[in-house]
Amino acid sequence: MTVLVIAEHNNQTLNPVTLHAIGAAAKLGDVHLLVAGFQAASVVEQAKKIAVVNQVLYSDVAHYEHGLPEEIAPLVVSVANDYSHFVVAANAFGKNLAPRVAALLDCSQISDLTEIIDNKTFVRPIYAGNALITVQSDEPKLVLTVRATAFDAVADAGGNANVQNLVATNAVNLSRFVSRELTQSDRPELTQARVVVSGGRALGSAEQFNAVLMPLADELGAAIGASRAAVDAEYAPNDSQVGQTGKIVAPELYVAVGISGAIQHVAGMQDSKIIVAINKDPDAPIFNIADFGMVGDLFEIVPNLTKQLKSK
Ligand code: FAD
Repeated sequence: MTVLVIAEHNNQTLNPVTLHAIGAAAKLGDVHLLVAGFQAASVVEQAKKIAVVNQVLYSDVAHYEHGLPEEIAPLVVSVANDYSHFVVAANAFGKNLAPRVAALLDCSQISDLTEIIDNKTFVRPIYAGNALITVQSDEPKLVLTVRATAFDAVADAGGNANVQNLVATNAVNLSRFVSRELTQSDRPELTQARVVVSGGRALGSAEQFNAVLMPLADELGAAIGASRAAVDAEYAPNDSQVGQTGKIVAPELYVAVGISGAIQHVAGMQDSKIIVAINKDPDAPIFNIADFGMVGDLFEIVPNLTKQLKSK
């Protein structure tokens, strides 16, 4: 089996999520990595060094600059004869690209894998993570999106892959890049953070959300997450939503503050290594998955906790 992973990058650095996708692909066979970009030579330098990558395919042309799936899908298809599996992370980039590749190749896509049993058999969550389904396909080619938090990242050093220059496909011009707004933050990125402090509706306002959670997050070096109720109420920005329709996180420590533990929220954080829940309702469902629970008023518990961490 030879597997093609499609790299996500910004023409300068490789997104670490690609290392997790490669970790998944390595369970299937020989891994080749496709870097499609514009003036992305530094990404190729990083790609070459990734352990387990045997070959880097590189195509550099202006219409690949912004990772538009309409442009990149035909490039993947142009090399498809050589591959049995096409792997990309199940994030915005991968979810946009993978279905186009599958449609152009007229093959199946299996989405959001959390486990690879063999080259035909995969596990993925369904019903907002409440059940796992094992899916088997005999098709000769498969497009797979993988949940990054479920697969270990491979080392970004130690490899020495060949680089093959690929002829670019013609520009399709079906879509046009307009602009990109990036959140600037000193905090770790939510999906990569070792610690996440998340707040729910109980915080009551954006001011309280920030006043209560930020000092705790500062002490823990944590990223800030939120439930959808908190995001809908504008206590926290959209990109901080954790859950089925938000981001999937699996940090070493997840602190859920004033979050009830609805299945759609739990779907996004249940793989966290240690879950701490703070809630005044002892019957809140979040306590069913918490490793440590504190029952009480968050407006007392969180400032106390922060004070104790500060004094250490
Ligand atoms: P609530 O459910 O209102 O819980 C607030 C909690 O705070 C309660 O448990 C309460 O006991 C506790 N509390 C109140 N005051 C205090 C206090 N002073 N101190 C301590 N505890 C206190 N939700 C997500 O989070 N992410 C998603 O991605 C997501 N996707 C969804 C997709 C669909 C299709 C649907 C239908 C829903 C989705 N939801 C999602 C919404 C989800 O169902 C819940 O409504 C939401 O998670 C509830 O947020 P919450 O826990 O902050 O609020």
